[in-house]
Amino acid sequence: MNRSIAEIAAQLQGYDPQALSAEGVGDFLARLVAPVAQTENVGVLDALGRVLARDLVSPISVPPHDNSAMDGFAFAGAQLAQGALQLQVVGTALAGKAWQGEVRAGQCVKIMTGAIMPAGLDTVVPQEFTRTLADGRIEIPAGLLQPGDNRRFKGEDLMEGRPALRAGERLGPAACGLIASLGIAQVEVFRRLKVAYFSTGDEILSLGEAPREGAVYDSNRYTVHGLLARLGCEVIDLGVVRDQPELLEQAFRAAAARADAIITSGGVSVGEADFTKAMMKKLGDVAFWKIAMRPGRPMAVGRIGDAVLFGLPGNPVAVMVTFLAFVRPALLRMMGASATQPVLLKAHSGEAMRKKPGRTEYQRGVVTRTAEGRLEVRTTGNQGSGVLSSMVQANGLVVLHHAQGNVAVGDQVDVMMFEGAL
Ligand code: AMP
Ligand code: MG
Repeated sequence: MNRSIAEIAAQLQGYDPQALSAEGVGDFLARLVAPVAQTENVGVLDALGRVLARDLVSPISVPPHDNSAMDGFAFAGAQLAQGALQLQVVGTALAGKAWQGEVRAGQCVKIMTGAIMPAGLDTVVPQEFTRTLADGRIEIPAGLLQPGDNRRFKGEDLMEGRPALRAGERLGPAACGLIASLGIAQVEVFRRLKVAYFSTGDEILSLGEAPREGAVYDSNRYTVHGLLARLGCEVIDLGVVRDQPELLEQAFRAAAARADAIITSGGVSVGEADFTKAMMKKLGDVAFWKIAMRPGRPMAVGRIGDAVLFGLPGNPVAVMVTFLAFVRPALLRMMGASATQPVLLKAHSGEAMRKKPGRTEYQRGVVTRTAEGRLEVRTTGNQGSGVLSSMVQANGLVVLHHAQGNVAVGDQVDVMMFEGAL
C-alpha cells in the first residue's frame, strides 16, 4: 500500500532529485506519508494537542434556548415602531430560572444575561438604557434599539445534529472548551505519533563527554526533541550514533521497529565520507536530494521498514529550517491533521535582502510592530547555517520564494512565525 520512491517520482512532473524545489519537496512528502490508522479515546483534558479522528456531531444545541445577551428588560420588539415605550415590569427571568408567565403588550420582564427569553419576547433593552418612572414602569427612549437586539439564538454557537468539529482538527484550548460545552467527556483522536531520532557524526559529543579538539556538542538532538515535543509526538531518543556500519545499522533497525518516523541529522551531504548514506540505502527505499534552498541543501527521504525516514543535514540551523519547512507538515499529515502548512504573514522588510531567483531562502528574522503599527521584519545578522544563536534571536523565518529576486527596503515579504512551533 505504501508507494515506493520510484512510484512517487514517476507521478511528479519534472522531478529532479539533484535540483528539487521546496515546493516539489512538499508535493513529494504529501504523497509519501499517510495518516496513522489507529485511534484512541481520551478525556477532554488529555485531548489538548491531539488530532480529532472523527467529525464530532453536536448532541445538543448551544445555547439550548434563545437567551438574553444583556442584563436588562425583555419585551416584544414590534412595539418599538411606536417610538418611546413605557413598559410595566411583570416578573424576572434569571439565568437558570426561566420566567413562565404571560407577557402582554405594554409589559416586560426583567432579565439577566443568559436567561431564557420568555415566550413571545424577542428583544432586550440593556438596563442602562432605561429610566424607571415614578409608577415603577420603565421607559425606553425612541431610536435606540431594533427588534431582536441583544437576543442570542438557540444553536447560534452549535446546532444539534451538525458537526461541531471536523476530523483532522488539532484540538487547542478553544476546541477543548467547545467539546466540554457539548457535554462530551471523551473524544476519539488519532494515536500519538512515535518518532525516533538520532544524531550522526564522529565529531559529535554527548552532554557529559569531555570536549576534544574538532568535536562539537550535539545540539540537534535537543532542537529536534523540542520541535517534536511541541507537536505532541512521542520521542524515542537514540542518542549520538558513531560513524560505524554496525552501530548505524543497529540504530536504524531499532528506530524502524519502534517508530512511525525516523529523523536523523548529519551525514547526508555530498562527498560525506561516512556510512550513514550507505546504510540508509542498504536498509531502505531512500532518495537523496539536493534541494534548491538555503540553508539545508542535502536531505534524504524515504522509508526503512514501515517507518518514514527524514535524513536531515547536520548544520543546526539547517536541521531546524528543514524540519519546519518539510518535516513538520509531513508529521502533521501523519498525525491526521488537516491543516499542515504553516500560516505565513506579510511584513515590510526593514532592510534590503540579496536573493537569487531559483532557490528558496529562509532568513532568520525578527518581526516587530513599528510606531505606525505596521509589521516590519529585519534579519538577524549572521545567516550562517551553523549559527544557532540566530534562531534564538529570531521570532520567525523570512521565506524568500523560489522565483523571488532581491528585496528592497519596504517590500512586503512572507514570514513563517515560530509561535506555536518553536
Ligand atoms: P554534516 O551534514 O554531517 O556534514 O554536518 C554539517 C555540520 O553540522 C558539521 O559542522 C557538523 O559538525 C555539524 N553537526 C552535525 N551534527 C550535529 C549535531 N548533532 N549537533 C551539532 N552540530 C552538528
Ligand atoms: Mg557529518
